[in-house]
Amino acid sequence: MSLEDKIKISSSYKDLPARFYEYNQVTRLPKIELIRFNHKLSDKILSINTRDYSDKELVDVFAGQKPNPKFLNISQVYAGHQFGHFSPRLGDGRAILLTEVLNAQKQRHDIHLKGSGATMFSRRGDGKSSLGPVVREYIMCEAMFYLGAPTTRALAVFKTGEKVQRETQLDGGLFARVASSHIRVGTFEYFASTHDYEGLKLLADYSIERHYPQILDTASPNKYIKLLLAVARNQSAMVSKWMSLGFIHGVMNTDNMLISGETIDYGPCAFMDDYSSDKVFSSIDLNKRYAYSNQIEIAKWNLYRFASTLIPIIDKDSDKAIEMLKESLKDIDFEYQKVLTNEMNKKIGLVNLSNMNIINIFLNELEQKRMDFTVSFKELTYSPEKFSEFKFYNDWKKENPSMDLMKEVNPHFIPRNHQVEMAIQKAYAGDFSLFNSICEAIKTPFLENEFYERPPTNEELVTQTFCGT
Ligand code: AMP
Ligand code: MG
Repeated sequence: MSLEDKIKISSSYKDLPARFYEYNQVTRLPKIELIRFNHKLSDKILSINTRDYSDKELVDVFAGQKPNPKFLNISQVYAGHQFGHFSPRLGDGRAILLTEVLNAQKQRHDIHLKGSGATMFSRRGDGKSSLGPVVREYIMCEAMFYLGAPTTRALAVFKTGEKVQRETQLDGGLFARVASSHIRVGTFEYFASTHDYEGLKLLADYSIERHYPQILDTASPNKYIKLLLAVARNQSAMVSKWMSLGFIHGVMNTDNMLISGETIDYGPCAFMDDYSSDKVFSSIDLNKRYAYSNQIEIAKWNLYRFASTLIPIIDKDSDKAIEMLKESLKDIDFEYQKVLTNEMNKKIGLVNLSNMNIINIFLNELEQKRMDFTVSFKELTYSPEKFSEFKFYNDWKKENPSMDLMKEVNPHFIPRNHQVEMAIQKAYAGDFSLFNSICEAIKTPFLENEFYERPPTNEELVTQTFCGT
């Protein structure tokens, strides 16, 4: 059977009105090469067994090199608040939604290509990606998956065989990712800000059906309020999980916040080495808007942007809609804090604690002593006596922490920024061995791994990351 015939194609987004997207074809890339393919993801999540197919066949289908008229081949429109400022029209400027796939459990996933060429949304960009960001995204999103964070997944990395012009000429890359959809807070902002309330309602109904169908089963005074609260639950869980891993996303713009609550767009992201509450990696985040400890506040800020888009479809009377929204969000500070508290307290083996007093004292001590986030939690798990002189220690012990719980949530291994950078540099030099070995190591983050758990030396430390273009 041909590879194409194995894919159970779906195209639900295409059934939305034409103003939701633009048709596009992937740029032809005669010298494209497959670098890595995630057969397990394809098999388990997409129900496509890809193992018996050649690189050429994988490239033809999943890098869109043999156009398939049954695929969607669309670029989606969206808007977004970038670093707090509203851009009325962003859209997929360098990406194509290749197809939706229905798996054996009838779940729908998008296969999305990033770096696939210019679209009507490209503005001044070239629609392409260099190889480095593609390598970073593959490593980071797969690592996050194995660490237990809700995330989009990496299907494949390709080297395009073309050069892209950035500060220097760089090898081009193409990234294939899988997500349960690509509907963003920014997608809602696009329809709300253009006063296209019919489109907005279609989008909201589509989102409910695709992601939160349970909403329809409940006796619901207002299904859009239920949608808002469901999104809040998933997004707060996602960001709390990031925090518990020392992960800094770097560009929490509303166009990078999915309605599904999966992590997307691993651009200038990184895991912290030394604990620092206001740590920022992104070279463009000059005001530290997306610093480590700001992420929950920003998630809430983004949720309010989402809430405000829903006003016109919640009630014709906007004052009434606003009242309903206010009422439904009145406990949101508490709710977000509760999710974060639970997630962070698990790291010290505590459950059902309603505050973060103990862990905050521990984190303050780590910060003052410039200690590594991941290593410290791991050592607390396996050799707690090392911390007996720390201020939090006696109070912590009194709570009877569960060491089993700590083993479940505190990883031995995270892909550290200096290793990711090194893998990128080697990839540009044509050597993918480090990239491949990191991709293997990330699959078992909770098992001991001598080589990778080591934090960087001062010479190795990489403190900045650059945007994913
Ligand atoms: P990001 O911050 O990477 O999520 O991207 C924000 C917006 O910029 C999106 O609309 C992207 O499609 C667009 N964009 C980023 N890089 C490029 C590029 N090289 N060419 C065209 N559009 C781009
Ligand atoms: Mg984006």
